Amino acid sequence: MVTVNQDFYTLRCINCKTEFDEHQTCTVCLKCKGPLDVVYNYDFIKQRLNLYALKNSPISALKYLTLYPILNLEKIVTLNEGGTPLHHCRNLSKKFNLKNLYIKNEGANPTGVFKDRGTLVEITKALEMGAKAVCFASTGNMAASVAAYCTLAKIPCYVLVPEGTPIGKLAQTLSYGARIIQVRASYSECAALAEEMAKRHGFYLAGDYAFRLEGQKSQAYEIAEQLGWKAPDYVLCPVGVGTNISAIWKGFVELKLLGLIESLPKIIAVQPEGCNVVVKAFNSKSKQMVRIEKPNTVCSAVAVSMPFDGPKVLTALKDSHGAAVSVSDEDVLMMEQSVAKEEAIFVEPSGALPMAAVAKLSKEGFFKKDDVIVCVATGNGLKDPKSAVKMIPEPPTIDPDIKEVDNYLKYKLYQIQSEGIKNKTKVLWTKIPAEKDLKKIIHSEFGIDTNPAVLKTIGSSIKEFETKGKEITKQDLQNIIEEQLDEYNSKDKYLEIIDFEAKTSKYKQASASIKVRYGDKVLLGQANGVGAVDAIITALKSSIKDHDKLSISLTDYNVEIFTGGVEATVKVTMTAVDKDGYKIHAHSTSPDVIVASVSAFEKCYNFLYLKNFKPKK
Ligand SMILES: *Cc1c(COP(=O)(O)O)cnc(C)c1O
Ligand SMILES: [Zn+2]
Repeated sequence: MVTVNQDFYTLRCINCKTEFDEHQTCTVCLKCKGPLDVVYNYDFIKQRLNLYALKNSPISALKYLTLYPILNLEKIVTLNEGGTPLHHCRNLSKKFNLKNLYIKNEGANPTGVFKDRGTLVEITKALEMGAKAVCFASTGNMAASVAAYCTLAKIPCYVLVPEGTPIGKLAQTLSYGARIIQVRASYSECAALAEEMAKRHGFYLAGDYAFRLEGQKSQAYEIAEQLGWKAPDYVLCPVGVGTNISAIWKGFVELKLLGLIESLPKIIAVQPEGCNVVVKAFNSKSKQMVRIEKPNTVCSAVAVSMPFDGPKVLTALKDSHGAAVSVSDEDVLMMEQSVAKEEAIFVEPSGALPMAAVAKLSKEGFFKKDDVIVCVATGNGLKDPKSAVKMIPEPPTIDPDIKEVDNYLKYKLYQIQSEGIKNKTKVLWTKIPAEKDLKKIIHSEFGIDTNPAVLKTIGSSIKEFETKGKEITKQDLQNIIEEQLDEYNSKDKYLEIIDFEAKTSKYKQASASIKVRYGDKVLLGQANGVGAVDAIITALKSSIKDHDKLSISLTDYNVEIFTGGVEATVKVTMTAVDKDGYKIHAHSTSPDVIVASVSAFEKCYNFLYLKNFKPKK
């Protein structure tokens, strides 16, 4: 076995330089637990390399097989990864005063992330080595990628993910058939647990180890190829565990070694401010990385307390004369929007890190106008739609009435979506403004005009908010405006909540009483419930029971918390159906979750009432 490998490659610890055969270990050094590197006999590779085919066949990860540590080509597990577009950013280039800014769109891979390139090699090796099952830790994307390839290879797959992993990634992974365990811990703790699990149960340990890195080198090969067999001046890449940026650097170094390119790029590592272990170490010229106990960032794919491949990253940055930059979550989320709006590429937050760094660095005059700059957009935006939705409020919902369409256009309601992004936590005033000042504020913050009727309802919502003792932030005002613009408040309400009261305690059932107007009647209700919201809704239903024309039931209830300003605001979304199966969604925002719930219910009821009993025009 050893003889085959020695002809071609061996595994060597980057710290203590001990060499291993892959059957001894292909993950961590058995002596010092350091990361391993695949060291090749490049003369052997050169002999096998078909330069003509390389230069003349379409780009794909598979055409670089000669540069991967694969021994048995019959076992290849592939979904046709790689061959992703190198997109010239014509619009954002202008903004940053750069000519040659590119995005390598890795979201175009089979499972939506560059990791597929690494998984190609990793799961092929797992098959080669006779793995009976695979286990590993992931922040979500590796989970989906490895799960997909395990399904093809028919190997059972166990994944440990930190609790709170984005739902898009979980849904994808579970759909491929993997077995997920959510762990109340960060990624790095999941990784340690996975290592232990593999040892105990004899599973093949997948993850950010040497074989994966080999597969991910193909990003560098493709970038060079797409630039006409030239390295760019800079490559910017997000850093989590640090495997990918190290892979990209290794890829370029190999191309130069093989005579396919003449120069090497400078590598720039990008991390979010809330988790910037590598950036701190590099910029303080320290080899020692300091663990971040609680990563705090929307860039969940790079929320890694202690990057296992950090030492490789530091070497890549030093050898390439590169740099390390951190950017704020707000800048990342805004850049996620800009990349979508200017270049029509939808990325997840981590994928926007490099472009956010370009924005920051170009402001400082870091680049020359002619520099060729490549940003690796690592993952597809569909993986984490919730982070995008944070920046782009839900569009208004209307009844099928052309007048409502006209209003949407007249008041430019679409503008609120781009203006609302900035300074969401800003407190807008100390004293509630008069109506004409409010109109001005709304115009300057959101760029939309409001008519007197809408302005009035916005004003009264603001008063309700402030009676709860909440300062109004820009986010709050946006929620209020959106709600009022839904046109709901200008319609006749058949059901109107006049007042209510709810009591709840740790040991007793919640109870509630309510007073409503129903048509021309005023009715009272009282009920207990499993919680305050349940008690109120039950009380409400009982108050109208003898007259109820709809008997609606709730099918979904969802609470979202905005942590803007001093106290949180909640947005409640409800889905209700009536007895004929008409379904409606409504939402309401308030600092008080019960108020928001009651008001969302009231809306659901009235929408369904209008659907059923709207006077014919
Ligand atoms: C995994 C991942 C990263 C980080 O790559 P590392 O190899 O862990 O440094 C960045 N972005 C996305 C979208 C990822 O899935
Ligand atoms: Zn070692």
